[in-house]
Amino acid sequence: MGTLRIYTCPVCDYSVLTSAGPDATFSAGTETFKCLDCCEIMDIATRVWTPRSILIDFDNKGPLLPFEGTPPPRPRVVEVVKCPVCEGLNLELWDTTLKPCPKCDTSLEVDPDIICMID
Ligand SMILES: [Zn+2]
Ligand SMILES: [Zn+2]
Repeated sequence: MGTLRIYTCPVCDYSVLTSAGPDATFSAGTETFKCLDCCEIMDIATRVWTPRSILIDFDNKGPLLPFEGTPPPRPRVVEVVKCPVCEGLNLELWDTTLKPCPKCDTSLEVDPDIICMID
């Protein structure tokens, strides 16, 4: 289950809907990146669960649910992370402490409401 919030820039009105950090959905683990080519913030899947590995939590600390038989394999790590907007490869992990605006570097302000849960 992932939780998304809206972050807005008080200076240039940039806004983005993001998890702002590592998150996990039913089918993939995501992290928040900044694309250096198109200056956008986006959540990109970095791990994809194989059908049996969804029982393993994000950090592989152990099964979330009891399972029988052999332990599920580790989540498959996505090797090449690509910008879904411009297909560029110049991505860096977004600084989720300072939350700098990708356009003007001002810290983004979070909308306190949780906008949506994804699964
Ligand atoms: Zn800005
Ligand atoms: Zn891009």
